[in-house]
Amino acid sequence: MAKYIFVTGGVTSSLGKGIIAASLAKLLQARGLRVTIQKFDPYINVDPGTLNPYEHGECFVTEDGAETDLDLGHYERFLNIFTSQANNVTTGRIYQTVINKEREGAYLGKTVQVIPHITDEIKRRMLLLGQKGEYDIIISEIGGTVGDIESLPYIEAIRQLQWELPEEDLLVVHLTLIPYLKAAKELKTKPTQHSVKMLSENGVFPDVIVCRTEEPLNADIKRKIAQFCNVKIEGVIEAPDASTIYEVPLLMMNEKLDQIVLKQMQITGYGEPELEKWKAFLNKLKYPKTKITIGLIGKYVELQDAYKSILESFVHAGAMNECKVQVMPIHSEFIMEDNVAEKLGNLDGLLVAPGFGHRGIEGKIAAVRYARQTGLPFFGICLGMQMAVIEYGRTVIGIKGAHSTEMDPDTTDAVVNMMEEQKAVTTKGGTMRLGVYPCDIKEGTLAHRIYGATSINERHRHRYEFNNAFLEQYEAAGMVASGKNPETGLVEIIELPDHPFFIGCQYHPELKSTVENPHPLFVHFVAAAKEFNDNRSSAAKNPLLQSEMI
Ligand code: GLN
Repeated sequence: MAKYIFVTGGVTSSLGKGIIAASLAKLLQARGLRVTIQKFDPYINVDPGTLNPYEHGECFVTEDGAETDLDLGHYERFLNIFTSQANNVTTGRIYQTVINKEREGAYLGKTVQVIPHITDEIKRRMLLLGQKGEYDIIISEIGGTVGDIESLPYIEAIRQLQWELPEEDLLVVHLTLIPYLKAAKELKTKPTQHSVKMLSENGVFPDVIVCRTEEPLNADIKRKIAQFCNVKIEGVIEAPDASTIYEVPLLMMNEKLDQIVLKQMQITGYGEPELEKWKAFLNKLKYPKTKITIGLIGKYVELQDAYKSILESFVHAGAMNECKVQVMPIHSEFIMEDNVAEKLGNLDGLLVAPGFGHRGIEGKIAAVRYARQTGLPFFGICLGMQMAVIEYGRTVIGIKGAHSTEMDPDTTDAVVNMMEEQKAVTTKGGTMRLGVYPCDIKEGTLAHRIYGATSINERHRHRYEFNNAFLEQYEAAGMVASGKNPETGLVEIIELPDHPFFIGCQYHPELKSTVENPHPLFVHFVAAAKEFNDNRSSAAKNPLLQSEMI
């Protein structure tokens, strides 16, 4: 039988519940337990697929094609496991299931209510992943902050489970903030007391309190929190700010978070956490030998969370290359033909990001052209690859009107067009080409060198594709389609063999990069950028070389 840990949040949002949940999961996994994490989001959207990235950050796509919360990305990156549709549940999905059942007559004429019908469906989903014997522990993160009206049904569901399951099979971790008042030079516990009080008024009693704090908690403060929040003193865990999220599992281990969890849940027979690989990664991350700058061209660059998985993939790939990757966000709307050299001149590599819609795409095309013509390492993901196709068509092949039907539905030169199966789709949300698809790789290409394989699987989220009617023309002009879907022939990877590093993929490699398995495309892109930087610095040092370059 699986055991269940619930992670709730108090006082304020953005305390990093996802990271704490993932760190605890990592520590338990490192001891040999089989662990997974799921996220419950209290909003009405059925999934975050229809949300603008400004609203909720990146939409993370799982192997089975679920459009999910970005915290699932953290879970996968920390645990090196796949999550699935079942790992992300929203209030919208709960209600949709209940309403569909009501329409089918499943409630036999009863009045359908929040309690028990909505809470029963929440409980069913909370327990679901634990029922196949695949996992020892299921950690459920409850989105939002305790006290929000919309999270009440989730808290009530936990209350009921607290009563239904054996005591040692359920544990509640409450993440809270202990603010430091500079003027009084004091840490304040009152907001935490209030949030725990609110939780207990709803019948849920936390076993562990994880305290985010900028100042160390002394023994007195810990005792006070324990006493007023009704937890054991070793159940008060200090969570200081970390220099990187990947340090948090070690900070939590120092605070013995995993030990109190094992003790309270009466789990025995597991040794100390095996974290050698993790520590080696952290060491490389903290002490890089070189530094490079990568330009990230996108249209949501003001918001870090919009490109979360890409940024994390660079962290993994940077550590692998013992190199600090500084990612410089550049807004595609501000790139023009006449300022592109000035904007991109100091970069060691260029990544053109995924995206949707018309805004900023001419800037992306200008950026691709600059990288292609100057030998700057280029990596295009999804929309980024499509922009590379358009640029090559316009500039090299001479297809003047080359475009995507996404931006120009009437173009006569649709080098990127809507996939056939998408043409009949009218609804939004879960209707793109989503999730994992196979891709065959041509031998002897850059993609082949990078993957060291001729068959791969990658995740997707798109509606448009390279138009194969133009493939012959493109290949004759030097662009190679080095990866294709074996069944449909859909072009998955393009590259330019006469460029030091120019590659674009229709899929999203950033969704599969983890601490233990950094994605090879990112690893090789960073290596190429490092080489570009080396050549540039040696050229700068050597006046002869410099004049040759001119
Ligand atoms: N908008 C493009 C498409 O739907 C690219 C999508 C993306 O970058 N994820 O095909």
